[in-house]
Amino acid sequence: MSLSFIPLGVGDAFSQKYYSSCYAVECEGHWLLVDCPHPIRKILSESGGLAGLKLDLSDFDGVVLTHLHGDHVSGLEGWAFFNTFMLKKRTQLLGHPEALEHLWSACLLAGMGNLMDSPEGPKATRQFEDYFDLTDLSFEHATSFGPFEIECRKTIHHVPTTALRIRAGGRCLGFSADTAWDPSLIEWLSAADLIVHETNYGIHTPYERLEALAPALQKKMRLVHYPDDFALEASVIEPLRQGQRVVV
Ligand SMILES: [Zn+2]
Repeated sequence: MSLSFIPLGVGDAFSQKYYSSCYAVECEGHWLLVDCPHPIRKILSESGGLAGLKLDLSDFDGVVLTHLHGDHVSGLEGWAFFNTFMLKKRTQLLGHPEALEHLWSACLLAGMGNLMDSPEGPKATRQFEDYFDLTDLSFEHATSFGPFEIECRKTIHHVPTTALRIRAGGRCLGFSADTAWDPSLIEWLSAADLIVHETNYGIHTPYERLEALAPALQKKMRLVHYPDDFALEASVIEPLRQGQRVVV
C-alpha cells in the first residue's frame, strides 16, 4: 500500500506552457483529484499518458477543491456533466464549506441550473444535489474518503482557500494550495512526508522565501504553480513536472 501522485498541471492561471496546477493522488488503486481546471479530460489524458497511464474521469473516486478561482475549478462543470450523462452517477465532491460557499450560486448555477430532456421538452430545474454528493472537510478533524484521511487549513489568499494534508498508506502528502508566504502554514505542512508548495508573483509565495528555508525542509518540498519564466534548473527546491509520478 503506497501513496503517490501525478502533477497533472504545474502552471498558474496565466500560463502559456503548462496546465493549471492540479493533481491525481493514488492509493490502493483509488484515485482522488485535487482541484479541477478545464479541460480536465484532456489534462488527464495527456499528463496521465506521460506517466504511462490511461487516466480518465471514471478512474476517480472524487475531487477535492481548495478554492473557487477559475484555474482550480473551471473543469468542474464538465466533470459533473460527464459523470451525469456518460457515467450515470453523481460527482463525489470534497471541500471546506467556507471555500465552497459560492460554488453553486456563483460558479455553476448559470450553466447547470436547467436541463432539457429533449429539444422539444420543457427545461427542468436542477439543483446542486442532482449532480453532487458533498463531503465537508473540517478545520478540527480529518475526514475519511476511501483510503484517504484529509485535513485542511486556511491559507492567505483572495478568496477562502484551504491547504491540505492527505494521509494514506502510512504516508502524508501536503498541498499548500494558493497562498501568500505564511510561516505558520509551512509549519503545519512540515508534518507531511512530502510538501507540494506554490510559488509565484503578487500575493503568492515568493521563491526567495522558500529558498531561505532549512535544507531539511527544502529536501521534502516540491514546487508548483510557478510562472512560465520560473528558472527550473536554478531552483534549489525541485519543481514538479507534468506527468511525473511521485511516490510519497
Ligand atoms: Zn487562487
